[in-house]
Amino acid sequence: MVWLENLKGLSLGKPDIKELVRQGYMVIDMHVHTQVSDGCSPAQSILERAKELGIGVAISDHNKIKSAINCFDNDYGVTVIPSIEVTAESGEHLLYYFETKDALKKFHTNEIKGRVRERSVNDLLKLRDKYKCLVSWAHPAGWNFFHRRRKITIDLKKIDCLEIINGHAALWNVKQTARWAQRHNNSYTGGSDVHEISQLGRVVTCAKAKTIPEFLDKVKKKQVKIIGERVDIFRFMLKYPFKIAIAKMNYFIRF
Ligand SMILES: [Zn+2]
Repeated sequence: MVWLENLKGLSLGKPDIKELVRQGYMVIDMHVHTQVSDGCSPAQSILERAKELGIGVAISDHNKIKSAINCFDNDYGVTVIPSIEVTAESGEHLLYYFETKDALKKFHTNEIKGRVRERSVNDLLKLRDKYKCLVSWAHPAGWNFFHRRRKITIDLKKIDCLEIINGHAALWNVKQTARWAQRHNNSYTGGSDVHEISQLGRVVTCAKAKTIPEFLDKVKKKQVKIIGERVDIFRFMLKYPFKIAIAKMNYFIRF
């Protein structure tokens, strides 16, 4: 395990999910896509795999909520945090986490539907106070080996968390985000950014909580453990070139 900066609870490596659950942690993969946006896997498979792993999921499709809403009450007993990844006009991705599916529905209907990629970051960040939700900047320093954002492009005082460990981000992205979070005193999240089922559970956020509101509150208070490792992107690209192409095409056509 490599420890990052001085941020409590953050570590790189394979999470020992069984042990975390045994210790009483609620273990959540906080960044998961389904076929409703650009994921390759249907929501049903995500739930089945989450059940096998013993984790909960935040289904956070790009600007869409169908899977998040449909999966909230499920027969698997899997905790599903109602979520969405919203694209700002300037390209940043913001993850919104809600306590209830009704809150997510209201947010989506009133603020996002029909206005995708039209709203400024500042405008989107104002919604945090209007709706009871937790907001995290997804992959702030870039989302893969080739994409690197070197400068902070949003006002970090107006956002709760930075997504420090993202399953697709290179180590330099992770370290840079960790430095920003430390400097600006932000809370933090971690998620695999699942686009295919095998990536689920590679990065998890854990808190000693029994309910979704309790979990989100602990995240906000930095009473979390975030453990994860990078998903194997090249293997994924070689294994699923057609699935990825179709998922990406869907994503661009639909939005
Ligand atoms: Zn994502």
